[in-house]
Amino acid sequence: MSTSLVMEELDLIKIRKDFPILSTTVNGKPLVYLDNAATSQKPWPVIRAIESYYTSLNSNVHRGVHYLSQKATDAYEQSRRKLATYINAAFEHEVIFTKGTTDGINLVASCFGKQFIGKGDEVIISYLEHHSNIVPWQMICEEKGASLKVIPINEKGELIMSAFDKLLNSRVKIIACSYVSNSLGTINPVREIIGKAHALGIPVLLDAAQAVQHLELDVQELDVDFLAFSGHKMYGPTGIGILYGKESWLNKLQPYQGGGDMIKTVTFEKTTYNELPFKFEAGTPNIEAAICLGNAVDYINSIGLDKIARQEEELVEYATAQLSLITGLRFIGTAENKASVVSFVIEGQHPYDVGFILDKMGIAVRTGHHCTEPLMNFFGIPGTIRASFAFYNTKAEVDILVEGVKKAITMLA
Ligand code: PLP
Repeated sequence: MSTSLVMEELDLIKIRKDFPILSTTVNGKPLVYLDNAATSQKPWPVIRAIESYYTSLNSNVHRGVHYLSQKATDAYEQSRRKLATYINAAFEHEVIFTKGTTDGINLVASCFGKQFIGKGDEVIISYLEHHSNIVPWQMICEEKGASLKVIPINEKGELIMSAFDKLLNSRVKIIACSYVSNSLGTINPVREIIGKAHALGIPVLLDAAQAVQHLELDVQELDVDFLAFSGHKMYGPTGIGILYGKESWLNKLQPYQGGGDMIKTVTFEKTTYNELPFKFEAGTPNIEAAICLGNAVDYINSIGLDKIARQEEELVEYATAQLSLITGLRFIGTAENKASVVSFVIEGQHPYDVGFILDKMGIAVRTGHHCTEPLMNFFGIPGTIRASFAFYNTKAEVDILVEGVKKAITMLA
């Protein structure tokens, strides 16, 4: 590893030791993990917390008076408090544990859609959306006879805000938009979107799956109505995520699913529902993952989100500069404001072929449409090669990627 690392703001040699998988090999080569937008790696404090949960805490939550159940419930609720603080929610009960971003968006599309979207209404999304912020809205629009409107983008992969202005009208019932694009890294002007939407009384859902691990998020300052993200992209376990909703909205919505924990009383004639947040947490949750997501938040806080963001910015800048020297490489997504992602194509080569060769060199990048098919159609390409960075990545790894891409081009020529 490059000795220049010690010059950097973060002690990357120490940090990388926190992530055991980073010192493994793939195909006989040291792993260079640049697929962090798909899922991040996990540090020891999270891995150990998972083991500790099953060796000292395992029990169901909110149901037992016995010692273990109380302890597990305390840890589960403590994690909720950590997450509420992390995004600066006004109340802990505005933080709902879900399976992930997809689950959170489906919850809102389904519950909000059932109650507040009708025939002839409109839902606005953007061209940059992940399929999980397209399909749930398409489904509810189809069911209700509403239509889906899409904020267009320019060639750099930025939203065209003048076109957004023209989409706003009294038929629009909700706007659902990504904070950061997973395919291009574009950081969207979410404050402007929220401000303009609220001026017309339209609520906004933000898909923060690619934002929450890179940028400081303050839901009160943003004044966002709903915000969804996934634990596994922020150094936590899979199968857990958060839906934040303003208390006023969550109180208005009817439950998503019925079952244990979300009820107050049940008779065969009528059920009354539990209060927030339990109203939206039917059934036994992913207790271990919910608790250990709190450990991931502790870990992020111990490093500092500001330092994380600076390191990732530097990596994006460095990777962009180095990759731009390669003949035949074209960047897809060149927005002024970007976070953590560099996407590109190689003239005359399919992204999969390049990705396959990189994998043989131990380099993990994502190739394909990244669950954003409409966006790839916009650029007229089947997909991109995407390197997505986390703060534990190094410039030395960027160098390996650049050499790997050059080699792949030679081999495929
Ligand atoms: N939204 C964005 C922007 C994403 O990048 C992803 C995953 O890559 C998702 C939503 C879906 O997240 P999950 O699969 O964790 O539900």
